Amino acid sequence: MLYCQSCNTDNSSQATRCQDCGCPYLLPYAVVLARRDGKLKGVKSGFNLPAALFGFVWAAYHRAWNLALFLFLFSLALVAFNSQLAAGTNSLLLMIAFQAAYMVIRGMYANKWLLQALKRKGYSERTTPN
Ligand SMILES: [Zn+2]
Repeated sequence: MLYCQSCNTDNSSQATRCQDCGCPYLLPYAVVLARRDGKLKGVKSGFNLPAALFGFVWAAYHRAWNLALFLFLFSLALVAFNSQLAAGTNSLLLMIAFQAAYMVIRGMYANKWLLQALKRKGYSERTTPN
């Protein structure tokens, strides 16, 4: 499976251009997983920008409900923590720093988390992607 770098659409491995937007920049998924019924899922590698920006909304979009719940609760905890912080000096900078760190961590680990979530749902890695 290949994904389009501009619109993120899944394409067949034979495609040389994106079937959706016509963009020629197709990349292979880092990991392709298959379920018993033949359904395929691809997981990319590298930094996951949508996960960094949208957090639990991104996880819910991928139907990784446990992950979505975890990210949502962590966001709430961070808000609660930041409101405690608000009394101190330089608190705004600290809040921004914590929020930014949380976003970077989400982006860095998102693909790994998604992979684990898919494996829990019965997907397993294929050794020979086509
Ligand atoms: Zn495309």
